This record gives sequence, C-alpha cells and structure tokens, in this order.
Amino acid sequence: MRKTVDRSTFDRVIVPTYAPGAFIPVRGRGSRLYDATGRDWIDFAGGIAVTSVGHAHPRAVKALVDQGRRLWHVSNVLANEPSLRLASKLVARTFADRVFFANSGAEANEAALKLARRVASDGEAKGGKRPAKPRRFEIVAFDNSFHGRTLLTVTATGQPKYQEGYGPLPEGIRHVPYNDLAAARKAITDRTCAVIVEPLQGEGGVIPARREFLRGLRRRCDETGALLVFDEVQSGNGRTGTLFAYEQYGVAPDILTTAKGLGGGFPIGAMLTTEKLAAHFTVGAHGTTYGGGPLACAVAEAVFDIVSSKATLAGVARRHDRLVAGLEAIGRPHGLFAEVRGMGLLVGAELAAPWKGRAKDLVRLAEDRGLFLLQAGPDVLRFAPSLVIPLADLDAGLARLRRAVGDFLAPPEGKPGKARPRR
Ligand SMILES: *Cc1c(COP(=O)(O)O)cnc(C)c1O
Repeated sequence: MRKTVDRSTFDRVIVPTYAPGAFIPVRGRGSRLYDATGRDWIDFAGGIAVTSVGHAHPRAVKALVDQGRRLWHVSNVLANEPSLRLASKLVARTFADRVFFANSGAEANEAALKLARRVASDGEAKGGKRPAKPRRFEIVAFDNSFHGRTLLTVTATGQPKYQEGYGPLPEGIRHVPYNDLAAARKAITDRTCAVIVEPLQGEGGVIPARREFLRGLRRRCDETGALLVFDEVQSGNGRTGTLFAYEQYGVAPDILTTAKGLGGGFPIGAMLTTEKLAAHFTVGAHGTTYGGGPLACAVAEAVFDIVSSKATLAGVARRHDRLVAGLEAIGRPHGLFAEVRGMGLLVGAELAAPWKGRAKDLVRLAEDRGLFLLQAGPDVLRFAPSLVIPLADLDAGLARLRRAVGDFLAPPEGKPGKARPRR
C-alpha cells in the first residue's frame, strides 16, 4: 500500500453507520488532538465522555505498557490480578459488594437487565423448576434515555429512532416520562423486575434527574420489589464531581452500570451489585470472553486511581464553574442558549428557540476553529472534556468557541456550516 488513508477512505471501506468529522486525529496529548499536519484541536468531547484523564496520560500509558509486557489475555477460565485489584477498589468505594466486568456500556446494561430477570425468575421457581414466563418480568425505562445498541438495551432506550427496523423487539419494556414520579409510580408494579434510569441523562440532552424523582423511584421499587438500576455508563467515574452521580442524590441503586470513563479510552464496562443479588448469577449463568481482561483492568485501575482522588474530584467542580461561566458569557449577549445545565464536566448548552435544531452547524464551525465538541440531540451542545483538562486549555477552548459562535451568528459569506479560513 503506497498511499496513506484519508477521510475519503472511510466512505469506501467502513459501514456507513457514522458520519465522522473532516479531520483525522493521529495523536492525542492531554486535552489536544493533532492531525497528520500537526494542526491541533482542543478536545471538549473526550471521545464521548470517555477520555477522563485526557490523551496519553503517563500513568495510564505506563499501566498499559507494563501490563502489555506481562499478560494480555487468559479469558475468565482463569482469574487475573488487575481485575481483582480493580474490582476491590470499586467495591471499597461504592454501595456494591460484587463486580461483573464487560467490554462496553451496552454489555454492562445487558448484564444488569438479565440479572434482574434472573432474580425474578428465581423468585418464582418451584422445586427447582422455573416458570416458562415469570409473572414479574417487566422493565420500566424512561423517555429520551440511552442504554445501548444491543437488541435488549436499544429496546430499553427511550428514543424510537434507535429501534426503527429492528423488530420484533424483546417484550416487557415500557417507557414513562423522565423526572415524572407520578407516571413512574403508576408504571412500576409487582410485575416490574427492574427500573433502569440514568441519574443524569447524557445522549438525551444532558438532563439531571430531580432529587425527589430518584428518591421516589427508590421508594417505589422497595414497595413493589423491583430492582433499581442506575445507568452510570456516562455519568460515572468522576464525571459529575463525585465518583458516581448517585452519591450526590443520597440514593443507592441495587445495580449500577458503568463503562465510558472507566477505562479512559480502553474498552471496559462494569456492572456493580450487592452480594445478595450477585448470588443469582451462578456459574455459567452469564459470561463474556474478554470482560475483565488484564489489559483493560490494568489501564482502568490506573485511571481509577486518578479520577477517584480528592484532588481530581475537587478539580472537576472547579472546572464545571469555569466552563459554565464561560458558556454563559459567550451566550448571554446574543441570547444564544436557552439553558446551560449539567453536573461536573458533563455540561449541556441548549440553543434558544431561533437556533433550534442547529447544534450540528455550530459543532462543525467549532471544528473549523480548532475545537472538538459534541451534540446531545439536535438542540444541545455537549461538553465532556477530560476531568484533568488544564485550565489554560479550558480557557483556550472557550475562546475558540467564541469565534465559532461569531461565525455561526454572522456568517462572513454564504451559508453557515461552509468551510472557512481556520482560527
Ligand atoms: C454510551 C452509553 C451507553 C452505551 O455504551 P456503549 O459502550 O456504547 O455500549 C449506555 N448507557 C449510557 C447512559 C450511555 O451514555
């Protein structure tokens, strides 16, 4: 092969489920991405809330390289030291007593919902015989949620566009409006095996749960015997300023799932639960070839040590204030944002009415100005930088955003979204 690959190669060789940006990063350092020409982008996307300690953090790189020289993979037929260390740390710092490792958020949620079904089934088994279909099998989820792309988790996802064309979908999953406790109380009955909820909706528009909502769900689950599952795939691992978002609500789940920031970019997911519930996943009841592998867990342990430290978590709160103040200062003169919201370093800026549906245009203009951003739906800009982003990069990113907003509001020529000179 003579020629190097470029963006046009994507359209020839990759299944077109994505529409990636125009530049191809070849290197990342801290909170900056670089293309092959050396041009840099400040990374406010963090690989979708994943690169929690930035790119190529020396401690994460060292963990990866050291483990890479030692042992890559043995499967779960054998235990491995990194997974035992990481699980011990997760258990020590959370409500949970037991950890099941997977490779992604969807898989962590798949494990959580399968466990809930299994617990219900065990409860109805008589003399070792399970009912063909248990009485308690329903799953309650919420509108606008996102739980993954496997058939079960995409059915739990409360956004019909992700389910189109994949029927028949697994039965027994219903959706009610997020933050509507009365509707949830009605939907959760003694036929409900699990309630799955994001304490802070990410993909759905960066919407925090109300305190009374999560507390009310906990109460209703206790009344009916349903298990409460917190999907912290995006909100976990220090993202909101506490190790997990649930800590800020004073409500503990029965099962918690996480992934994204856990490995800081190395694929890994986890389902955390109590000893009592974990006992229902007996040998062979569930499994994965790669889950909990030594490489993933060694990296995740190094990432965990950084993101769980007092200094990092305090730094998230400080960066939140600085980011939100910066966004408000950029938006205020034009009334650009209807709301700036979120927790920690998962922040959403919702475009005001005149610019509804145009988050995509602004993301593209920011890219032209050397800033890499995310959307959360058509109306919301999403910010999920590294939890340890240098303050200078945070400020520089905001300055680039200000320029992009200038382009957005007063395009120098032609339509917004057209390529124009950089920076
Ligand atoms: C991203 C995400 C998932 C799915 O994670 P994958 O690793 O893409 O499978 C599930 N739940 C939430 C809340 C997410 O943000």
